[in-house]
Amino acid sequence: MMNIRSLFPKKLRLIVLFVVLTLLTQVGGIIWFAIRGIGRRFSQKWKIQLAINLVIYVMITLTIVPLLAQIGGRVAMPIFATSKTPVAPRSFLFVVFNRHYVKKDVREVVFRAARNLSAQYPKSVVHYLDGGFPFWDKFAMLPHLSHSGGEAIDLAFCYHKKGDPSKYKGSPSPIGYMIYERPKPNEYQPYRSKRSPLRWDLPFVQWMRMGRRVDRDRTRYLLRELLSDSRTKRVLLEVHLHRRWGIVHHKLRFQQLHAARHDDHLHLWVK
Ligand SMILES: [Zn+2]
Repeated sequence: MMNIRSLFPKKLRLIVLFVVLTLLTQVGGIIWFAIRGIGRRFSQKWKIQLAINLVIYVMITLTIVPLLAQIGGRVAMPIFATSKTPVAPRSFLFVVFNRHYVKKDVREVVFRAARNLSAQYPKSVVHYLDGGFPFWDKFAMLPHLSHSGGEAIDLAFCYHKKGDPSKYKGSPSPIGYMIYERPKPNEYQPYRSKRSPLRWDLPFVQWMRMGRRVDRDRTRYLLRELLSDSRTKRVLLEVHLHRRWGIVHHKLRFQQLHAARHDDHLHLWVK
């Protein structure tokens, strides 16, 4: 039987790991290769080595990377929501993957909108998704086409417990994406029946509602706060939701066919 290790020698595996980590996290590949020998000094067992290296990786990601990013003009979004800044990542993965960096104005627009939202609807938290990488405007952040400059961030819709609008909830998707507020048959759909490799329907995960419903009032309030900020350049949302939620604004747009869907999150662009 052919040995898988001989098919993929160690050097090739390391190169693949470096490329994958770099594409996902920008500096994760460099950090991992700088620290990967440390675990070996403490234990012969690979699981313990991996755990030690992961702890060191997370510590560097939370302490050194944000300091260096600031030099280049990018700030980290908060990791935990507080009463002063009710903003948090939908998943901690956005933080450990270094995908929560933006220019300062973007963070300020989100902070302002989140504070006003929680003043109007207590205990509401704005959950962010992908922002940008810590360094270098030209470095593409896949799968997004427009997050590389640090001027954009995705925000989850607001949700509440099914049948109880007073119980605020985060997105039913653990990463905030891919559970869609799909168009109803009678709603305007300019791209109905047209196909694009960037627009995925993912019907097999749409049942995952976790007893949550999108909170139209809170999401609409958040949207209006974002749109009313003079620093906001544009917000992207699928057109059937503009109409369903009754919002018309010159900064509120919908994406063209050859782009990701925006009926699971808002895309905020600040310039
Ligand atoms: Zn986006």
